[in-house]
Amino acid sequence: MPSSKGYAVLDAQSPLAPFNFSRREPGPTEIAIEILYCGVCHSDLHMARNEWGQSIYPMVPGHEIVGRVIAVGASSVKFKLGDIAAVGVIVDSCRHCAPCSNGEEHFCVQGATLTYAAPDRVDGSITMGGYASNYVVDERFAHTVPENLNLAAVAPLLCAGITTYSPLRHWKVGPGKKVGIVGLGGLGHMALKFAHAFGAHVVQFTTNLRKKEDALKLGADEVVLSTDPEAMNAHANSFDFILDTVSAPHSLDDYLVLLKKDATMCLVGLPDKPSSFGIFNMITRRASIAGSMIGGMVETQEMLDYCGEHNIVSEVEVIPIQKVNEAFERLLKQDVKYRFVIDMSSLK
Ligand code: NAP
Ligand code: ZN
Ligand code: ZN
Repeated sequence: MPSSKGYAVLDAQSPLAPFNFSRREPGPTEIAIEILYCGVCHSDLHMARNEWGQSIYPMVPGHEIVGRVIAVGASSVKFKLGDIAAVGVIVDSCRHCAPCSNGEEHFCVQGATLTYAAPDRVDGSITMGGYASNYVVDERFAHTVPENLNLAAVAPLLCAGITTYSPLRHWKVGPGKKVGIVGLGGLGHMALKFAHAFGAHVVQFTTNLRKKEDALKLGADEVVLSTDPEAMNAHANSFDFILDTVSAPHSLDDYLVLLKKDATMCLVGLPDKPSSFGIFNMITRRASIAGSMIGGMVETQEMLDYCGEHNIVSEVEVIPIQKVNEAFERLLKQDVKYRFVIDMSSLK
């Protein structure tokens, strides 16, 4: 393996800075990829700053990876040299528990291995993510990419894409359903695209009406300013499903009262503080609050293939890696349309 270059944080307070490290040679079923693009997920920011209390330093973030295969293990069958491969949020699991056997490795009962800041099952080292020149991964945890899609705009599908595709599929969002998407950021704009493509009536909730025109272009049938009580009230008791992608603490009750009887609000956003909600708002409509995390390998490939067939990609702002700290700051100010993606050729 060539040595690896990347950007790392050394503790929860420091900015990302150049960092050199090494990765192991690919094993028999593993591939090595030269990373071309890596998306900047809000989870990278939560993790860099240890907002969930589970960070390990030094940390190279990044789990929306698209790259070119530069080495293949002797027994690998899925990729050949020069192919494009994509890697998301997990890179290993026990591979034999019930969820793993079912292609739902993200729910591995022993815990899936995260792409960064997790103990590697193969050599015990700490995984280093995709803000880097290369990655080594078992081919089971790498995906093929439809040839018709722009590679920079594919990268965010590996986290923002699958994290929204999976719950929308699980709760059978489609024609005849009224669906709300809360927050128009990286996850939110992919949720909007998918819910629209699945044929639902989609309402985008945002705290920023300047995003209204974009939301309509991305597939919203209606856009609601969530800080306007009258506008919110007009949708009381009307939603079949609401997907909440918000990264910061906010009221869940504002949305629970918009659900129909027996409807579900699914949380995918992961604020750094626990949420509370009024139980009366649930019992009076037999509502459910649910959660969902990324997706398994089978569904992630299904999502990528669906995107190829329907020409769906992320709206991206491509940046050189030298601007990644600025990108973190802009993410906090909700100043991104709608995902930053690092062009790794900038990594010198
Ligand atoms: P993002 O691009 O920063 O988008 C978050 C959006 O939330 C913002 O664009 C904004 O939308 C809204 N928002 C932010 N602060 C808010 C506040 N104080 N009150 C109300 N709304 C606010 O982030 P992202 O990359 O999409 O990630 C979103 C969250 O999902 C993060 O917490 C991330 O860690 C989590 N995540 C979870 C999974 C999973 O598997 N469950 C996977 C990936 C990411 P408006 O401007 O439209 O209001
Ligand atoms: Zn992510
Ligand atoms: Zn397992």
